[in-house]
Amino acid sequence: MQSGAGCPTAAAVFVALSMALSPQAIADLPVVAAADILVVGGGTAGAVAGIAAGRTGYRTLVVEQLGYLGGTQTGALVTPMMPNQLQGTPLNGGIDAEINQRLNDLVESGVWRDGNRGWFNPEALKWVLEEMLVSCGAQLLYYTFFEDAVVVDGQVVGVVVTNKAGRGVIWAKRTIDATGDGDVAYRAGVPFQSGDPETGVNQPFSVRFHLGNVDLARFADFLRSLGRYEVMDQAEGSQVPLIHTAMVWGRNWPLEPLFRQAVAEGVLLPEDGEYFQVFTMAGRPGELAFNCPRISGEVDGTNPWHLTQAQIRGRQAIRRYWQFCRRYLPGCEQAYVVMGAALVGVRESRRMLGEYLLTETDVLEARKFPDAIARNNYPIDIHRPTKDQRPGLTHLPPGEYHEIPYRCLVPLGVEQLLVAGRCLSATFAAQGSVRVQSNCRAMGEAAAVAMAMSLDEGIPPRQVDGVALRQRLIAQGARL
Ligand SMILES: Cc1cc2nc3c(=O)[nH]c(=O)nc-3n(C[C@H](O)[C@H](O)[C@H](O)COP(=O)(O)OP(=O)(O)OC[C@H]3O[C@@H](n4cnc5c(N)ncnc54)[C@H](O)[C@@H]3O)c2cc1C
Repeated sequence: MQSGAGCPTAAAVFVALSMALSPQAIADLPVVAAADILVVGGGTAGAVAGIAAGRTGYRTLVVEQLGYLGGTQTGALVTPMMPNQLQGTPLNGGIDAEINQRLNDLVESGVWRDGNRGWFNPEALKWVLEEMLVSCGAQLLYYTFFEDAVVVDGQVVGVVVTNKAGRGVIWAKRTIDATGDGDVAYRAGVPFQSGDPETGVNQPFSVRFHLGNVDLARFADFLRSLGRYEVMDQAEGSQVPLIHTAMVWGRNWPLEPLFRQAVAEGVLLPEDGEYFQVFTMAGRPGELAFNCPRISGEVDGTNPWHLTQAQIRGRQAIRRYWQFCRRYLPGCEQAYVVMGAALVGVRESRRMLGEYLLTETDVLEARKFPDAIARNNYPIDIHRPTKDQRPGLTHLPPGEYHEIPYRCLVPLGVEQLLVAGRCLSATFAAQGSVRVQSNCRAMGEAAAVAMAMSLDEGIPPRQVDGVALRQRLIAQGARL
């Protein structure tokens, strides 16, 4: 494995210790399907991987545990897409740009009028992704959970899945792990890192929610009266004033006195002021979307007990925020909770080690690679508990971007498998930068095209020429 300078050599590396099913047990399972390109996880990266793979003409199947596509974007309600752009021009293109254009075309559902700035309606994204996937001929299997990787002679040849029909096997010539947590690669024995190398702790979760029946005009007036109100110009065709406001203890933001009062009056807990953020979205008049509550402490996204506790604690906090908004924020008196996120928002968990380990130095020194599959200049963005005073955001030099090499998607030790999304091969800090949605989409597209090239040429994806891949992605509209 290669890596850029600054790679923390002391970082713990973990490997899955045992596979659950014997070869005989797998051979006895019913066959659910066979695919040329199997995508496990239909989220931010996986939906795009499925679309890109389907368009190559190879038999493509996307397996997803939920009943819709989009993953963290739709299921965890992470609806702002962070800007990844240089002088107003998005650094990602290809299918990412196509999705944004399609959201824009649904005038009431997107706010993408000036490039990759803005927020989207998660329901609209579900429609857009599903239409694109189904229309390109890819197959989709919802409500199906990946359980184990089938590895023969060091090659991933299929996966074991579980659903209402029971346990079964899907055979695949090539598999893309887009589960966010690297579930397939983990079960196949790929080594990984997880958490901050200094503390071993992962970035906090968030369990996001929406409030409805809000008088947004009154709420906006109230925020203006406090003096801090981030207003974007109203999007063309939108009836919604674009509001963004936040509160974090100790930063002297205007909502802090109200938070203190609410804590004193027993409406909020002190932890509720660790990170509070709220904004409006086009296509959802009368609604506020919250990037909170934030859950710190036991935050391993691959531990079902941690995920369960996060939902329980998150739901309790959502009730407190709801009461806070109704009592203290003008315009929210009649608000109700529209929805809480089905998925816990996991910022970072397993990072599967690959042929290249992207580092903080690569990001901050704006390194370029011949086999680049995406460009990024979103800063290193580490959410930490409030008492940790290290800076949250570290920016690249002005006007600069770095590249993500294809090798970050090629896991060590097993063949016929690629990873795409936030579980790429990157250090904790580098992942904190490249994990934003447009990059995950670009990784999904690149992984699918690489798999098609590997099938065309009859070679494992590890041997795909990354420079040729880059050229093919450029020909498909990627900005590389
Ligand atoms: C709270 C929070 C706030 C964020 N804020 C922003 C932001 O403002 N802007 C931005 O651009 N990015 C933001 N991000 C980052 C970004 O949203 C994520 O990094 C990105 O969406 C992850 O994409 P992914 O494809 O790797 O995973 P996901 O989108 O989570 O996709 C994984 C998919 O795999 C499925 N899956 C998982 N395991 C299995 C299994 N075993 N079997 C079957 N299916 C499975 C899941 O259901 C899901 O659909 C935020 C992330 C979080 C958590």
